Amino acid sequence: MEIKLSFLGAAQNVTGSRHLVEIDNLKFLIDCGLFQERQFKARNWEPFPFAPDSLDAVLLTHAHLDHCGLLPKLVKEGFRGRIYCTGATAEIARIILLDAGKIQEEDAAYKRKRHEKQGRVGPHGDLPLYTVEDAEACFPLFAPVPYDKEIDITPGVQATFSEAGHVFGSSFINVDYDQNGEARTVLFSGDMGRTDRPILRDPDAAEEADYVLVESTYGDRVHDDRKDIKTAIGEIIKATKAAGGNIIVPSFALERSQELLYYIDELLVEGAIPDIKVFLDSPMASRITKVFRKHPELFDREMRRFIRTNGSPFDFKNLTFTEGANDSKKINHMRGTIMVIAGSGMCTGGRIKHHLVNNIARPESTIMFVGYQAVGTLGRRIVEGDPEVRILGQNYRVKARIAQVHGFSAHADKAELLEWLTTLKRPPRKLFVVHGETNSAEQFGEFIREKTGWQVAVPDYQDEALLD
Ligand SMILES: [Zn+2]
Repeated sequence: MEIKLSFLGAAQNVTGSRHLVEIDNLKFLIDCGLFQERQFKARNWEPFPFAPDSLDAVLLTHAHLDHCGLLPKLVKEGFRGRIYCTGATAEIARIILLDAGKIQEEDAAYKRKRHEKQGRVGPHGDLPLYTVEDAEACFPLFAPVPYDKEIDITPGVQATFSEAGHVFGSSFINVDYDQNGEARTVLFSGDMGRTDRPILRDPDAAEEADYVLVESTYGDRVHDDRKDIKTAIGEIIKATKAAGGNIIVPSFALERSQELLYYIDELLVEGAIPDIKVFLDSPMASRITKVFRKHPELFDREMRRFIRTNGSPFDFKNLTFTEGANDSKKINHMRGTIMVIAGSGMCTGGRIKHHLVNNIARPESTIMFVGYQAVGTLGRRIVEGDPEVRILGQNYRVKARIAQVHGFSAHADKAELLEWLTTLKRPPRKLFVVHGETNSAEQFGEFIREKTGWQVAVPDYQDEALLD
């Protein structure tokens, strides 16, 4: 009996998570993510290295696009098996895939127009990678599974989903099977979160595994001491209120927005900040927040206690969820200090752009960043201190206060990953380091080798490994 792993993404890079597992005639994927780094985007268009209709199942760790974003293409090309994941992941993935389908369609239309003007056709015929309809075709295949319950992928091969503490619904997955009479477990970390984050439960212990695939996004560094995020946000709000401006927060729809609401509600309850109005002006974040509300069983103890005493942080009296574009525009006419949380998190699109237009040239307002800003994005230019930026076709002087709140990371760092790996009760036969830039993955591999003496490999894109 031969067990084969193929590393089809997130191998010496951080997106496009996709690992093919072959156990006898059974074939399934762990994650089916979109490549998002510019230099790897072409891989999204490559044919799958297997016939999609020959694949039996997909096991999905969580709903981030770099883990689920290629599912519509897989289904479009013939996959009809089940997509196993936690219930919350299934619900959030639907929202995220619909949005991705829409963006793919819009991008293709934009390129078509540009290429028509230039009298040429792009390399993919200017067609979208997939459409909204393709995204919808995935929905009937989702098979939600509870945490901590062994499920049969096929008789003889079981999977168990455990809390990863990364984003709402996230999991790491143990796959159990029998190899020539001996029990074997392969553990797929997905993305690993951290302990003591708001709302989310802490990651479960790893327990037992013969082979482990572990992420290494921050495998080469240790996060700064966790600064007091809440105090930092409180200070910014107070200073901006005193100056008479608004607080504009570019934020990601999944997890970051909900964590922000939690901190703000806590500050309001404690009377630590003035009574300002807060707008969550992101239809996607609003939809995702509904999924949070639906699954209180996934909240940690602190969150449950907070709700019992103070009510839900997704429902406090100063909070408004804006739906239509008109409601969004009305926000700009409000008097007094308000806080607007809107997407996209790096200011590359979405409603945040209108709010920036209305506030970035006002010295009394604050643009508050709460997440990583990638090179080449508008957000990056603002945090790097460009004196003038172009938004929606016009130039604006940057006069607003630019603030960055650090400490929100959803990924475990080097030390935290080691700590989680050493919850294994016995050393694995081999550890595969994935989901990290080459440097980070290799440094982390070396670090684990040194600390534990385990056998460690850092696979590259399309490498294969036979498990004995
Ligand atoms: Zn993730």
